[in-house]
Amino acid sequence: MPEASEALKGPTGSRESKQAPDPQKGAPKPLKATLNLPQTTFPMKANLPQNEPARLAEWQKADLYRQIRSARAGEAKYILHDGPPYANGAIHLGHALNKCIKDFVVKSKTMAGFDAPYVPGWDCHGLPIEIKVDEKLGRKKLEMDPLAVRRACREYAEKYVDLQRSQFERIGVFGRWNDPYLTMSKSYEASVVETFFNFYGDGFVYKGLKPVYWCIHDKTALAEAEVEYEMHTSPSIYVRYKLTSDPAAIDPALAGKNVYTIIWTTTPWTLPASLAVAFNPETEYIALADLSGSVYVIAEKLHIDLVAKGVVSPAMENGGLKILARFPGSKLDRVTFQHPFLDRLILGVNADYVTTEQGTGAVHTAPAHGADDFATGSRYGLSQLCDVDASGRLRNGLPEYDGLTIFKANNPIIDLVASRGALMGREEIHHSYPHCWRCHNPVIFRATEQWFIAIDTPMPAVGAELDFDPAPSTTFRQRALDEIKNVAWDPSWGEERISNMIATRPDWCISRQRIWGVPIAVFLCEKCHTPLNDRAINQSIVDLFRREGADAWYTHTAADLLPRGTACASCGMEDDFRKEMDILDVWFESGCSWHAVLDADPDLRRPEAEIPADLYTEGGDQHRGWFHSSLLTSVAVRGHAPYKTVATSGWTLDEQGRAFSKSLGNGVDPVDVANRLGAEVIRLWVASVDFREDVAASEALMQRVSENYRKLRNTLRFLLGNLHDFDPATNAIGGTGKLTPEDFAKLEPLDQYILARTAELDAKIRRAYDTFEFHRAYHALNEFVNTDLSALYLDVIKDRLYTFAPNAPARRSAQTALWRIAEALTRLIAPILSFTADEVWSYLPKVEGREASVHLSLFPDIAEIVPGNTRDLLSDWELLLEVRERTFISLEGSRRDGLIGKGLDAQVALAAGRSQFEVLKTYRTQLSELLNISNSSLTHTASLDSVSGSNGVVISSGPANGRRCERCWRYTQDVGHEQNYPGVCLRCADALAAIGYPPFTSAAPQEVAAK
Ligand SMILES: [Zn+2]
Ligand SMILES: [Zn+2]
Ligand SMILES: [Zn+2]
Repeated sequence: MPEASEALKGPTGSRESKQAPDPQKGAPKPLKATLNLPQTTFPMKANLPQNEPARLAEWQKADLYRQIRSARAGEAKYILHDGPPYANGAIHLGHALNKCIKDFVVKSKTMAGFDAPYVPGWDCHGLPIEIKVDEKLGRKKLEMDPLAVRRACREYAEKYVDLQRSQFERIGVFGRWNDPYLTMSKSYEASVVETFFNFYGDGFVYKGLKPVYWCIHDKTALAEAEVEYEMHTSPSIYVRYKLTSDPAAIDPALAGKNVYTIIWTTTPWTLPASLAVAFNPETEYIALADLSGSVYVIAEKLHIDLVAKGVVSPAMENGGLKILARFPGSKLDRVTFQHPFLDRLILGVNADYVTTEQGTGAVHTAPAHGADDFATGSRYGLSQLCDVDASGRLRNGLPEYDGLTIFKANNPIIDLVASRGALMGREEIHHSYPHCWRCHNPVIFRATEQWFIAIDTPMPAVGAELDFDPAPSTTFRQRALDEIKNVAWDPSWGEERISNMIATRPDWCISRQRIWGVPIAVFLCEKCHTPLNDRAINQSIVDLFRREGADAWYTHTAADLLPRGTACASCGMEDDFRKEMDILDVWFESGCSWHAVLDADPDLRRPEAEIPADLYTEGGDQHRGWFHSSLLTSVAVRGHAPYKTVATSGWTLDEQGRAFSKSLGNGVDPVDVANRLGAEVIRLWVASVDFREDVAASEALMQRVSENYRKLRNTLRFLLGNLHDFDPATNAIGGTGKLTPEDFAKLEPLDQYILARTAELDAKIRRAYDTFEFHRAYHALNEFVNTDLSALYLDVIKDRLYTFAPNAPARRSAQTALWRIAEALTRLIAPILSFTADEVWSYLPKVEGREASVHLSLFPDIAEIVPGNTRDLLSDWELLLEVRERTFISLEGSRRDGLIGKGLDAQVALAAGRSQFEVLKTYRTQLSELLNISNSSLTHTASLDSVSGSNGVVISSGPANGRRCERCWRYTQDVGHEQNYPGVCLRCADALAAIGYPPFTSAAPQEVAAK
């Protein structure tokens, strides 16, 4: 089947009227000029790279976003809360995917009648910008005061906010771009510190020594979300620790023996911090004798492995290994060992996390450098000493390694262990190891003084601000877990992912030793270091930040900020406080956005009892990032999750599933695609993928989407071209408003059918928008355009549109359907193809009271397409379309036999069983049009009565009888019956008379060009 739009192509064989008929010399215009061919100035070539910026400028001039807001004012609110991208660099394809998804949601909700504001935001504080500024300033930074550094960071962020804003606008994302939210604004900073004080005042916050992920390159603590696992090569060593307590206390068989245990570590640099060896109390251990007579205590499950590796060389006895004793790990609790090279006793401890999957079953424990180790150390009252400084250098150690950075200290420490005769084995392993997500250097665990939010804090007692009644035993963690269940997670596995993260997460380390952020605005007693926690003082700091921004923490002294006579609650010392200079984790900051933005912004605010946001939608990694931190802050302060639905998207990858990288040269730059192919291509690409999965992008895919766009555009152009002489107010069959069954019945059956299909499409697309399954909308649209419109409807109605008298009711019926389809399609695609829909809108026939832009309009009311249930109609058409398909097969046979050429050369006889006959009879007068033939006959054949479906119709085709009309090319019996117009059929004669065409004279009009 040809594309519908082919009628619009090229001069020869085309039916588009390019110029007005030539009235010169009074000669009658050629017959071709009497056809109602499509006419439109809607350009075939979209020229998107030029036209999109022009349309953007128009939208800006008209302040379309503000107009949309006013048009929906007072309607039910739908709040999609923008997760702020980080303001450091141009946008990439992942940003474009994310912002287009949000734009589809906001626009489709707006067109569904909601008041759906979109206030974009940016994450402005934090390490990436501070590092960039560090690089720029170099050594100069050391001499600059913090305020100057903060100013430089602010300028850097502003630059990229402006860049990204222009890029997001370029790809057609609507929003309050002239007034976004910035996490570095005064009001935002004040809300962050206010939220912090909420935690602080309610007793969630403590300052403590704790091993945290630490980047020695950036000299800062890192959140879990800032750590990425990459492969890393580490030394792997086995070290023996000599038992110093009485071996007979473990087992009498060990009395008087030289007993050791063996630990395994991949971080030799932590050995100076070794304080204990942990054994699982439930695990079975053995005492294995070696050839020299020493005895080694190791897990029974691992001893074969250790013998195989040569870590121990066992003595043999009775044809087996010489095992002196077996005992559970609980027997090793509180025994003592000698540190391999320091003058230090090492305690045997019990811990459940010790496994027998690898190593020896005896775990070297350095409380300063591991979370488990730290917990065990606390249980046994061990020191948490940390002799690794912020830049990763070992301090207070032996000369062999003192002052070295940890990774450089590994070898000297291994040598030291060897020189003391304690090294039992050595190899290298390549393993997954935590790295800093910023600088990609390996990170370490390091015990430092940090601020924490205790995740297992009991929820505060019922306060006025809480609208729920937490059981006394409900902890913050449990409340957060409960709240996860009240949220719709899309895709659904998100619920389990975030639940697991919340269930197992350690306390939240919220402090960072940097400058560019919101300070932990707490005062500490100079004498006893106790933090001040006074509601009035805390509130005064919130007010200060609201006036002056967080810079105020750096411009004022503690004495300036505190009322005279402020006393330490612990030691009573007056007026002697210093400011805490750590800043808050940026995840804490962005996690406050529901309060800083949704609570505070009049466009977004809802009553406090309601959940602030309908939707958060970001990449799937945000279960540990923004979704996570937002949940925690909101549950602590409000008792509820801040969102009703959370939708996550996958990664953007190339067609081979690889990440984009400069070295592979496989990147797809959304701004570049917009500038070469059009933003519509990016938008349509986003709509074409299921964003829940990882999505593929490449230049080839963009070209393919661009080709789909061209097809869609040509179909829209065909619709517009055939509405050139259609004024809905006077020409629409059944009027312009909602359709009643009576109005609908006035339309030709095929036109009714295509409207019923349009109604189905409308329902499909609306459902897809509601469930954020934009790819379903995309596929439904493509199928409708290619199958229903191009291959069927637009092909069949050409005869009616072109050859009937302009005002013939059957032609107006087709135009009415085209107009209603065009109106519906334009609105339905507007959320995705925002530029093109608005362009088409301006070409559609004007109707009184219609909005100036499609983006101000609503989705079509279903009654503007069909008056109600169309099930019977659709089931009739199932049969009709099957008969049509089978007729084409029959015609193909006649063509092969040389009986006919074009379809219009043919006639078809249909013999049908009773039920099929009854249906076909109803459509008797439309059958020839539907089958694209000159004429048809229909008879009932009783022998087919028992055959069901289209098999109950026997189709035979042959050459048409009669003469061919020179104008419409149909064969009819009435060609030449009207004497004024010899050579044409009566229907064409009527059409000619209707347009006042002069009677044919001696000069016969030329034939119409080929269809
Ligand atoms: Zn780093
Ligand atoms: Zn004090
Ligand atoms: Zn004709």
